[in-house]
Amino acid sequence: MKLFGFVISALVVLSVFGNNCCCAEKVRYDNHTVYKVLIENENQLTIVKHLSTLAKGYNLWKPFHGIGSDAHIMVSPKMKNAFDSLMELNGFEKEILVENVQSLIDEESSSFERDATFGWTSYHGLDKIYAWIDEIIEENSDLITPFTIGKSYEGRDIRGIKISAKEGNPGIFIETNVHAREWITSATVTYFINELLNSDRAEIKNLRENIDWYIIPVYNVDGFVYSHEKDRMWRKTRQPVKGSDCIGADANRNFDSHWMENGGALSDPCAETFAGPKPFSEPEAQALADFVTKIEDKINIYLSFHSYGQYLLCPYGHSATDFPSNYEDLLAIGKSAADAIKKPYGTQFTYGSTGSVLYVASGTSVDWMFNERNIKVGWTFEFRDKGRYGFVLPATHIKPNAKEAVEGVIALVQKSSDLGYLKNKRVN
Ligand SMILES: [Zn+2]
Repeated sequence: MKLFGFVISALVVLSVFGNNCCCAEKVRYDNHTVYKVLIENENQLTIVKHLSTLAKGYNLWKPFHGIGSDAHIMVSPKMKNAFDSLMELNGFEKEILVENVQSLIDEESSSFERDATFGWTSYHGLDKIYAWIDEIIEENSDLITPFTIGKSYEGRDIRGIKISAKEGNPGIFIETNVHAREWITSATVTYFINELLNSDRAEIKNLRENIDWYIIPVYNVDGFVYSHEKDRMWRKTRQPVKGSDCIGADANRNFDSHWMENGGALSDPCAETFAGPKPFSEPEAQALADFVTKIEDKINIYLSFHSYGQYLLCPYGHSATDFPSNYEDLLAIGKSAADAIKKPYGTQFTYGSTGSVLYVASGTSVDWMFNERNIKVGWTFEFRDKGRYGFVLPATHIKPNAKEAVEGVIALVQKSSDLGYLKNKRVN
C-alpha cells in the first residue's frame, strides 16, 4: 500500500503539469487515449475512484459501479507512463478504446455543419439548432407552441417546443443534451421532431396526433456552447463553484431526489459527476423542475437522452438494490423498446434500472420526475456506441442512431399505453 500511496501522490503532483491548454484556445486532445479498465477488487476500485476525481490529465468517459464493472478513462499523454505503471502495479486488465481522441475530433470538425440546410449528416451548434427550431415553429404554427423554461447560468434561453395536434392528449416530456459533450442526443431529438412533424407512417402519425410532446432539444445550453467553442469533452454546467478552480456541476446529479446518496454522485467540484454544492444549485436544474411542476398532470412519460453505452435505464438510479413498485411494468416497457431498437440494424441495448444495470446515480432528472412528480414511466436512453468512438460518434451514425431511437420510442409509448400509463387523468 505504501507503493500505491506513493504512486497516487506522484499522480497528483504530475497532474498539475498534465493539464490541457486553457484560455482562449480550443482544448486539444492530441494523443489522449481512452482506456477500458476492469475493476476486479477493492484496491482497484479505490484507485479508479481516485483517478476519476483528478480533473487534470484524466477524464472519466464511462463511470463504473463497483467491483465487476469497467470504467472508460481518457488519459493525457503526459500521464500515460504513470498510468501504465499504476495499472501494471495493481494488476489491472485494460484495453485501448480510442488511441488518439484528437483525430476523432478533427474528423468530426471537418464535417461540422456540412449540411447546406439543417440536416442529419453533420452535427450542429446551438445557433443553428435554434434557427431550425424557429423555422419549424413558423412552418407548423398549428402544431407547435414554443416555450422557454428559463435561463442558464450564462443567461441563455433554455428553449423547448410543445407539439400538440389536439386538446386532451396525454403528454411525453423529452430533455436532451444535459451532458454537453453528448452531441448525438440533440442530433437525434431534432431528427425525431422532424419525423413527428412530417412522417406519413401510421405509427408516427399516431404519435403526432394522440400525444402532446414537450421537447427541450438542448438543455445544458452553456455547456453545449462550451463543448463546441472551447472543449469538446465538456460535460457539466458552467456555473463557477465557490472555493474551487473547477467549473460547473453535473446537472443530472443536481435534482433533489436522494441527492448525493449511496455514492451516486461526488462532492468534489472537479469530478465529472459533481452533484453541485446543494440540490438545485444549478439554475438549469431548478428551471426544469419548476417548469415540469407546473404541467405535472399533463405528463405521463419522461425521457432523457444521453450517450453512450447502449442502455435503456429506468428508476431507481439512487440504489442498486431498491426497485420501484411498478418495476415489472417498466421492465416490460424496456424490453419492448430494446427489441424495437434492435430491428433496423441489430444494435443491442441493455435495459433495467440505472442502479442495477449501469451504476448508482443519485439526483437525476428522471428519478426526480418519478419520485417527486409522480411520472411513473421514466427512461434514460444511452445511445450509441459502446466506446469505440464514445462521445465523438461520427456524424455518419446520426441517422442510424436516430432511426433506432424512433423505433424505440414508438414501442415504448405503445407498451406504456397497453399497460395503462397514458390515461389522461392519472390517479395519485
Ligand atoms: Zn449523459
